[in-house]
Amino acid sequence: MFSRISSLLTVLLAINHFSSAHAEEKRPNILFIFSDDHAYQAISAYNDPRKLIETPNIDRIGKEGAIFHRCLVPNSICGPSRAVVLTGKYNHLNGYFNNSNCRFDSTQQTFPRLLQASGYQTSIIGKWHLETDPVGFDYWNILPGQGAYYNPPMIDNGKKVTNEGYVTDIITDLTIEQLKKRDKSKPFLMMCQQKAPHREWEPPLRHLNHNNDRVYAEPETLFDDYENRGFAIKDQDMTLEKTMTPKDMKLVAPKNLNEVQRAQWDAYYNPRNEAFLKANPQGKDLIRWRYQRYMHDYLACVKAVDDGVGRLLKYLDDEGLAENTIVVYSADQGFYLGEHGWFDKRWVFEESLRAPLLVRWPHVTKPGSENKQIVSNLDFAETFVDVAGLPIPADMQGHSLVPLLKGETPKDWRKSFYYHYYEFPQPHHVRPHYGVITDRYKLLHFYAPDVDYWELYDRELDPQEMRSFYGNPDYEKVTAELKTEVQRLRTELKVPEKDESWFYGGKRSPAIK
Ligand code: CA
Repeated sequence: MFSRISSLLTVLLAINHFSSAHAEEKRPNILFIFSDDHAYQAISAYNDPRKLIETPNIDRIGKEGAIFHRCLVPNSICGPSRAVVLTGKYNHLNGYFNNSNCRFDSTQQTFPRLLQASGYQTSIIGKWHLETDPVGFDYWNILPGQGAYYNPPMIDNGKKVTNEGYVTDIITDLTIEQLKKRDKSKPFLMMCQQKAPHREWEPPLRHLNHNNDRVYAEPETLFDDYENRGFAIKDQDMTLEKTMTPKDMKLVAPKNLNEVQRAQWDAYYNPRNEAFLKANPQGKDLIRWRYQRYMHDYLACVKAVDDGVGRLLKYLDDEGLAENTIVVYSADQGFYLGEHGWFDKRWVFEESLRAPLLVRWPHVTKPGSENKQIVSNLDFAETFVDVAGLPIPADMQGHSLVPLLKGETPKDWRKSFYYHYYEFPQPHHVRPHYGVITDRYKLLHFYAPDVDYWELYDRELDPQEMRSFYGNPDYEKVTAELKTEVQRLRTELKVPEKDESWFYGGKRSPAIK
């Protein structure tokens, strides 16, 4: 602990010296918009074949800047992903393995602390979800835990406050209000962190009829039978068929609506729910109905997120701030929109592994840039530190995206990526797994607590990831190479040889205070 504090002090002192030497330079503002569980399939710029939704405002960031097609997360779950973003380190080093029994160790180095120490005015508004209070922010106003969609209580710099309205709009309003109040002598780091479209996907009332009862195309893998793969995929609990609750399906209304809001809710859902109960669909028809309801609700939430992005971009335009502000849009992981019959995330498979990432950086990033390199939210901390003109701490484990944003991909840019998921058994019974990902392959080890087997996926032959080629003689050579590579990555990234039992969640508390 003492060595961690003293190394942080050394970095902070170096930054203080650096910032006073460069005080005359006009460093860019950073607007980092981060949503929760926003699947790239639900952003029109990513061109999902189902054409689920138009998101003109999020798309605008990419059109005026860059869209990244392969932004991978080290651990596809909310809290751990946020800890990765803040620290630029894998969960085995930042101490936040799962959402069940971890608390973020706020004594450690984070990019907001580094930016704040160097003279940025730092704020975070919205979802935090890391148990301990935010550190490194001049202003913070966060949802307690997961937060509520309607009339959400928040914690404003430590004080509990009430709000009336829809959470996404409130977070956007508060972000704009705080930008108006900012200290104009300093560059800002504004982290606008939306709760939406996290489960239970409760829509903004103004968008309840947004799709005019459109019927959405189904994903090809909606009725996946989980054959040709190991036990873990058969034993999960995250399907539309078995896991979805009446609350998820809006067959019961949330408790925290006021009278007027409840009337709007009932006017939309009651007649549709009555028709559903009367029709009483079964089997595949029931799954199909659930998929349609899920898409309606999830996409209505996304629509409000996109509205908010539009308002934030307009504020930057109106205030003349757009030219010197980097705008980043991302989410804490990807999400299943019915693929493999699922909702939720967690797996190393493409839909949950990939987060959306769009970045606008006027005069630096060429408008309309597309990037297919393997990047990660592990890289965000280093990128923000680099953008702020600060030295990148040697203990961060990502790579600054600044060269890529300039259109200059370094020759030695990563060709492989390490993934590691821990949380088990609750809430979705997805077994811990780690592995290595390349452009084409994924080699995975399902290793705990009651399984021990490998899988190999070949996305070129099998883009939907419906079968494991592990043990197939044609794949012997590539399997051996990937096994060497995963071990190399584990050593380089300092992954412990053995997990502690509390890494998975459950009752035992971690040692971190
Ligand atoms: Ca999440």
